[in-house]
Amino acid sequence: MRIIDILKDEKLSLSFEVFPPKSDTNFESVKDATEKIALLKPSFMSVTYGAGGGTSKYTLDIAKNIEKTHSVPMLTHLTCVSSTKETVKQRIADMKNAGIKNVMALRGDLTPELEKSDKSKWHYHHAIDLIKELKDNDFCIGGACYPEVHPESLNQKDDIMHLKEKVDAGCQFLTTQMFFDNNLLYNFLYKIREAGITVPVVAGIMPITNANQVERAIKLSGSFMPQRFKSIVDKFGYDKDAMKQAGIAYATDQIIDLYANNITNVHVYSMNKPDVAEKIQSNLSDILGKI
Ligand code: FAD
Repeated sequence: MRIIDILKDEKLSLSFEVFPPKSDTNFESVKDATEKIALLKPSFMSVTYGAGGGTSKYTLDIAKNIEKTHSVPMLTHLTCVSSTKETVKQRIADMKNAGIKNVMALRGDLTPELEKSDKSKWHYHHAIDLIKELKDNDFCIGGACYPEVHPESLNQKDDIMHLKEKVDAGCQFLTTQMFFDNNLLYNFLYKIREAGITVPVVAGIMPITNANQVERAIKLSGSFMPQRFKSIVDKFGYDKDAMKQAGIAYATDQIIDLYANNITNVHVYSMNKPDVAEKIQSNLSDILGKI
C-alpha cells in the first residue's frame, strides 16, 4: 500500500518508527522488537537508514520481513550524502526487487569527516537530488521537514523555499522532525501552506522515556523544550519508571492535542521499544477508533 493513500484518508493515522541493529549480533533482538511493534497493526511503520547508530544494511531486510509477515505497510528510509551514484542505483534496484513501494528520501547528516571532505566530489548534496532519481522509479516518496528550522539553514524562509523545491521535485508527503511544543508545528504549517506546500504533513512525536534521552534528543534535533516538560524531567528524571510513565503521558497529550486540531497523521519515534508503542496506542484506543 502507498503511504500517501493512508495519509490522504480522513481517518486518523498512528505510525511507528524503528531503526536497524547496530551490529550483526543484535539483529535478532531488533527483529523481535520490530515484530512486536508490527503486531500492534499501526497505520504504517518506517525503518531508518543508519540513523540512531543502526547499520543501513539491515533496513531493507527489516522492511521486507514486516511487510511480508505482518502485512503492515512499510516506509523505507534512504540517505544519499555519503553515497555514490552507483550505490544509490543498486539500492533502488534492491528496493524495487523487494517490492518496496514507499521511500523516505533524505540527505543524511553531515559527519565531521564529510564536512572536511572535498564537496565538489560528492555525488549528492541535498535530498532533492535523491528525490529526482526515485521519482522515475514509481515510488511513493516522503521527505523530512523541520518546524524549528533545519540547523544548517540561514533562516526559516530559506528552509521553506528549499522544502517547496523538494515537494515540486516529487516528494509526496513530509514527516516532521520531533518537537515538544505543538504551537511550533501549527505556526510552521501556516507558513508552509502560505508558501504553497499542500502535501500531507505527518507530525513526528518522540516519547522521552529516560533522562539521558533528553540531552541526546536536543543535540540531534535542536528542539525547544517547554518548561512544562523540563519540570517533568527535573522531578522524575532519575526515577526510571516514573520518567517513563511521565514521558509517555506527555507524548500522548501532545498527540491528542494534534488530533483535536485536525492533524490527522502522527508518527511516533518509538525507538524499537514495543512497550512504549503499545502504551501510547492503548492510551489512544477510543480516539483512534473514531474519525
Ligand atoms: P535536505 O532536504 O537536503 O536539507 C538539508 C539542509 O539543506 C536544509 O538546511 C535545507 O534548507 C538545505 N537545502 C535543501 N535543498 C537545498 C538546495 N537545493 N540548495 C541549498 N540548500 C538546500 N538521517 C539518517 O541518517 N537516516 C534516517 O533514516 C533519517 N531519518 C529521518 C527522518 C526524519 C523524519 C527526519 C526529520 C530526519 C531524518 N534523518 C535521518 C536526519 C536527516 O538526514 C538530517 O536531518 C539531515 O541533516 C537533513 O536531511 P534532509 O533530507 O532534510 O536534507
